[in-house]
Amino acid sequence: MAGKLAPMKSPPYITTMRPQDILVPQPHGLCCRPGEFYIDPVRPVARALITHGHSDHARAGHGAVLATQETLDMMRLRYGDDFAGSTQAITYGEEIRFGTCQVKFHPAGHVLGSAQISVTCGGVRVVASGDYKDVADPTCAPFEVVPCDVFITEATFGLPVFRHGNPQAEIAKLLNSVALFPERAHLVGAYSLGKAQRVIAMLRQAGYDAPIYLHGAMETITRYYESRGIALGELRPARDAKKVELAGTITLAPPTAIQDLWTRRFPDPLAAFASGWMRVRARARQRGIELPLVISDHADWDGLCATIEATGAHEIWVTHGQEDALVHWATTKGLTARPLALVGYGEEDEETALPTSDGTKA
Ligand SMILES: [Zn+2]
Ligand SMILES: [Zn+2]
Repeated sequence: MAGKLAPMKSPPYITTMRPQDILVPQPHGLCCRPGEFYIDPVRPVARALITHGHSDHARAGHGAVLATQETLDMMRLRYGDDFAGSTQAITYGEEIRFGTCQVKFHPAGHVLGSAQISVTCGGVRVVASGDYKDVADPTCAPFEVVPCDVFITEATFGLPVFRHGNPQAEIAKLLNSVALFPERAHLVGAYSLGKAQRVIAMLRQAGYDAPIYLHGAMETITRYYESRGIALGELRPARDAKKVELAGTITLAPPTAIQDLWTRRFPDPLAAFASGWMRVRARARQRGIELPLVISDHADWDGLCATIEATGAHEIWVTHGQEDALVHWATTKGLTARPLALVGYGEEDEETALPTSDGTKA
């Protein structure tokens, strides 16, 4: 051999950073020790980075809060002006440094203002998805795939039985029902933050231009969406309408309201519910839902798997939801995967509905 040795190639970076040195699950939530912050903490902390406005992720009582403007506004609407010691708004793609970490927020496609949070430290990037969906939603910025080393994914619908299908087809079902039963009032149960506004926007996309009625608990947040430039057409408070006027109309209400006494003000009410859980017929029956609409703001099984692959991450941490099947799937793909035992997150809670415009709980 002619004695020329190829020069030793050094790796693109030399790091002793392990992903768990960057983010680690703790009772308060996901903790970044080098950056000295928590992501979506469930208990009060000095510095919180918040992915989105749903109340299981965005809680009051933190020292400093960093989030998108929309998420900060939603927290203000729910908790009042003094919900945190101080706040800072961050835009998608903007970079902020905490200690040795660079932090960026990226669209999560879940609700208005929702973000994934990427934390890069020592050449390793960890992305915490928050809640996300990879399908179109006229009320928020589309999900962005963020290449990373470690992807922390939610798993609300992390079972192969959950395939949400085409949401426009579900909207068509609702409109068919309204045409078929012009004497009945259609009550559509939907989470107050995000789902309700998405259903309204999709009804408008489908060409439905009649006034849409709102339960009191929906008003504040829906008007906020409009103030951010989301066109929702003519909206009316249901409480101002006479019973007879409500025949053949559509009203959006929190899921709990469509089964209670509140429905008495409607002529022959027909209960619908827009949720990924409506794929499970037994759930719909249990709740007395006549018209289940499979419309979800979370990725379904295919969406979760496709997103994990698209990130290029070699390590997957799975949190809040059905972790086991997704961990197993990732393992069969040759990825390192583990469930994260984070507690305090769940379905967007309908109990803590936003106050009505006159300040009372609806
Ligand atoms: Zn959420
Ligand atoms: Zn969640």
